[in-house]
Amino acid sequence: MLILECPYCGVKAEETELAAGGEAHLKRFGPGSSDEEFHDYLFMRENPKGVHFERWRHANGCGKWFHAARCTMTLEVFGTYSAQTTEPPKEIQDKISEKRPNWTWRDVK
Ligand SMILES: [Zn+2]
Repeated sequence: MLILECPYCGVKAEETELAAGGEAHLKRFGPGSSDEEFHDYLFMRENPKGVHFERWRHANGCGKWFHAARCTMTLEVFGTYSAQTTEPPKEIQDKISEKRPNWTWRDVK
């Protein structure tokens, strides 16, 4: 079972206490964007075999949204952090790089 620590209230919550919110760090496109940009924003998602960044909500707890960095193959959790960020905190990126030497943070699309 996936267990994530809520970065706001500190509770280690099981997956059943959380609500998944899809991919984290999406760049939003709205009015004034091209059809292709809007299409990609709505429909295109990464589906990696490995490191992934996701949005989660502590639904049966404090109710706040946060981000989690984890591996989709092993379910290893590298960390959780505030949803009010445009990229993962340096300590989480360093932790991922330590365990996955070929991994690098991508630019947000
Ligand atoms: Zn919480």
